[in-house]
Amino acid sequence: MKRITIFGATGSIGQNTLDLIGRDREAYKVVALTGEQNIEKLARDAITFDAELAVTADPGRLEDLRQALSGTAVQAAAGPEALIEAASRPADWLMSSIVGSAGLAPGLKALEQGTSLALANKESMVCAGPLMLSTAKAHGASILPVDSEHSAVFQALIGEDMSAVERVIITASGGAFRDWPIENLANATPEQAATHPNWDMGQRITIDSASMFNKALELIETREFFEIEPAQIEAVVHPESMIHALVGFRDGALMAHVGPPDMRHAIGFALHYPERKTLPVERLDLVKLGQMTFRPADETRWPALRLAREVMAAGGLSGAVFNAAKERALDGFIEKRIGFQQIARVVEEVLSRVSANRGHIDAAITLDNVINIDHLARTRADEIMTEIEG
Ligand code: NAD
Ligand code: MG
Repeated sequence: MKRITIFGATGSIGQNTLDLIGRDREAYKVVALTGEQNIEKLARDAITFDAELAVTADPGRLEDLRQALSGTAVQAAAGPEALIEAASRPADWLMSSIVGSAGLAPGLKALEQGTSLALANKESMVCAGPLMLSTAKAHGASILPVDSEHSAVFQALIGEDMSAVERVIITASGGAFRDWPIENLANATPEQAATHPNWDMGQRITIDSASMFNKALELIETREFFEIEPAQIEAVVHPESMIHALVGFRDGALMAHVGPPDMRHAIGFALHYPERKTLPVERLDLVKLGQMTFRPADETRWPALRLAREVMAAGGLSGAVFNAAKERALDGFIEKRIGFQQIARVVEEVLSRVSANRGHIDAAITLDNVINIDHLARTRADEIMTEIEG
């Protein structure tokens, strides 16, 4: 039996992971499930899957969780330390699918135990890629990418020599506003941004798809995960979302990963790796699909992509600044404090203010330094949003 833990079990990736586990219950022992506000769902799944432990990230919800689990054998816990304790419990495989930089510390803890880490939490690689890779190496743990583009690249690289790789192309659907005239973007609402043309995902990543901050994070994630040069990484808009990524080799060959937009493919690939097992995803009918189209990823429409290039060039802790600023600016947009196009403005301004002290960016990439600079970037983002409102 494979012992598994899911961080962010109540979210979109977590639920898709449970869907796969639920199809073959005998094969798995669920160690821990974690969530935050959705206590009902967390308790329901912990009971259904006979988990040892359920953890809510919010200490204020512990009593609710205890009550929801009363009379069952599932232990209840809450708060950041409880998350770390859950990550340190022996498991063979851990899904890291918390949204945001809050996913970093538990993922690192799991790697320190030698646990195989299925990584949906792209923020971990953006904030602390070198730390993630060195921790995995030091403890003999593997990191399996779950972001569909990175899973696609990983699969296209199986059996290949990295020295033969010329470029990596990741695709973007273009999100909710890809066909909107640029002039209309200033008035785009959070509700409009939170509807995705192809993928069914959590609210935050869906809005990040509309702003392309999701793709910006993924460009950085590609650099960190595969340790290739920024100049070798491209993004292209592909509205059908059937090709997830392509790897270009020095002989001119492009290896594409093609499949319907269903995260259960990438999750299942990471769950069964290195084997390939049958997965409940739709089989693509190419004739029915008819055509696949591509457009440039326009940096005027989506300034997040330009900012990602700047972050990759700056290196160090700038990825952590970029991510934290984006997380706060996204909160500001969801709360209607700032407009859609101001998300990128806030992030750019935070990058410029924090990077003015080069020492901040060049400090060692440790968990403490990432946490500190994450706080600093959030504070700056709040200041800038207050300036914009004023
Ligand atoms: P979601 O919003 O649906 O779920 C987020 C999960 O994290 C929930 O379980 C929530 O309770 C938990 N959570 C939220 N804030 C937390 C905090 N501060 N501390 C601890 N737990 C917290 O998000 P999602 O769409 O499932 O995305 C999860 C991660 O996977 C993100 O990093 C996202 O970028 C990545 N990802 C998602 C998809 C997708 O299809 N949804 C695809 C690729 C990558
Ligand atoms: Mg992705």
